[in-house]
Amino acid sequence: MEILEIRKSLKNLILGDVLWDEEILKFYSVDSSFYQTIPKIVVVPKTEKDVILAVKFATKNKISITVRGAGTGLVGGALTENIVLDLKNLNKIKIKNDYAYVGTGVIKGILDRELKSKGKFFPPNPSIGPFCAIGGMIGNNASGSRTLKYGSTIDNIQEITFVDGRGRKITLPENHAIGKKITKFAKKIKKKYYPKVSKNSCGYRLDCVNSIKETHKVFIGSEGTLGIILSAKLCLKKIPSKRLLFVVEYTSPKSAAIDCIKIKKTFPSAIEFVDKPTLENIDFKFKKNTNCLLFVEYDSNIQKNEKTFFNLISGKLVKKLMKQKEIEKWWKYRDLALSYSLKSIKKENQNPHLIEDATVPLEKLAKLFSIIEKLGNKFQIRTVMYGHAGNGNIHLRIVSGRQKSKQLEKISKWYFNQIFRMGGTISGEHGDGIARSNFVKKQYGEKNYQVFKKFKKYLDPKNILNPGKIIDTKK
Ligand SMILES: Cc1cc2nc3c(=O)[nH]c(=O)nc-3n(C[C@H](O)[C@H](O)[C@H](O)COP(=O)(O)OP(=O)(O)OC[C@H]3O[C@@H](n4cnc5c(N)ncnc54)[C@H](O)[C@@H]3O)c2cc1C
Repeated sequence: MEILEIRKSLKNLILGDVLWDEEILKFYSVDSSFYQTIPKIVVVPKTEKDVILAVKFATKNKISITVRGAGTGLVGGALTENIVLDLKNLNKIKIKNDYAYVGTGVIKGILDRELKSKGKFFPPNPSIGPFCAIGGMIGNNASGSRTLKYGSTIDNIQEITFVDGRGRKITLPENHAIGKKITKFAKKIKKKYYPKVSKNSCGYRLDCVNSIKETHKVFIGSEGTLGIILSAKLCLKKIPSKRLLFVVEYTSPKSAAIDCIKIKKTFPSAIEFVDKPTLENIDFKFKKNTNCLLFVEYDSNIQKNEKTFFNLISGKLVKKLMKQKEIEKWWKYRDLALSYSLKSIKKENQNPHLIEDATVPLEKLAKLFSIIEKLGNKFQIRTVMYGHAGNGNIHLRIVSGRQKSKQLEKISKWYFNQIFRMGGTISGEHGDGIARSNFVKKQYGEKNYQVFKKFKKYLDPKNILNPGKIIDTKK
């Protein structure tokens, strides 16, 4: 079928919008990554039935579909040259006591506001703040500063409803027939090749499926390649009545990393790291030789930690904050770290976000900082760092001239090999996308990769759901 015919047939088929104006296609051709891919059609379903019809149509006409949330992903996961599916109309929110049913088009900031009025929150908190969609958080297994205490998205979802590549609407873990099949795939996985980390957004998380009750988890972090998620049941927590934030300055990342291990034992809700470009943007006079900061937050055992924290650290305590407004002000500095980092790098010196998200076991964090230093010397590049130190998750930006793609590949290969040696993952939260899907096989090994491929085929036999992301069906 010709593309114009496809556009018109889709328009006749569904209640929602089917768009192909040049400006609209351009808008959907980018996300927050460095990539641009112009789609042929944008479909904005009005109902869940529209999604099913669109998937069945795509399967029949052999044209792929890539679902998109708010487009804040950093690795091009939501980009495609075929159909983009924008689920912004699936935006219902139903809040119960300790859980909520939400459509995946719900924007996080809107959910946060509704939950706040009831004294609740949904724990995963990407630094992008209110702007991402629940679908994108599920698609990437997003996390944030509070993941240290409350886990990633995968740890905070009880149920999902999705449409698979055959156009079947399925709810898990409720659907036992499909659940049983999934558990069979999960049993085939060699867990010893999975990274030993506290957060992981690379590949398929079949390692989290230990029983039928957990079968929904494998869709979290699957980047729209196994199913299009329509809605989810989210776990909620009570907003803590008090918080306590410490800011500590260090002369080297390694000493901060060593402190992280001691601090983690006191159960903080967050341990975050920023280096020079961020601290230079903070309205505070740090010591001249300050190289980096840790932000450490507690939302329980406040009194005890207030008294004992000083004894734990080797760095210099520069702030102890207990007032909500002050705490928010300082978290804003941390949340803007990506923006400060990019601001500190001239446009012609910026590079794709390729090796920006690796995560290692916390005991290996100091080693990770040495590896990053080595990387700089070996490839003659400067780097900027920030991230979720308590989880061993450090975001890295390469400075020093736009690298040729061959050189970037060399840098990535070298860096990821070091990450694998430390038992780490190439992505702790941003996913594989266009940037690094070709490293998934190396991370999990040939046997696990073949299970991934068969699993994908079971749910999406015609390979129409976001093809090329996470796995390459031809490999
Ligand atoms: C400044 C900045 C800071 C950030 N900080 C963090 C951070 O601290 N932690 C973090 O984890 N991330 C962070 N991110 C990355 C990103 O914001 C998150 O991963 C976010 O959850 C993506 O949501 P989105 O709605 O924008 O997804 P999109 O970019 O639209 O999509 C992301 C992926 O999810 C898939 N997807 C979208 N909707 C669905 C659905 N309904 N069903 C199945 N798959 C779907 C897409 O196909 C794509 O593969 C940051 C990004 C920026 C720009």
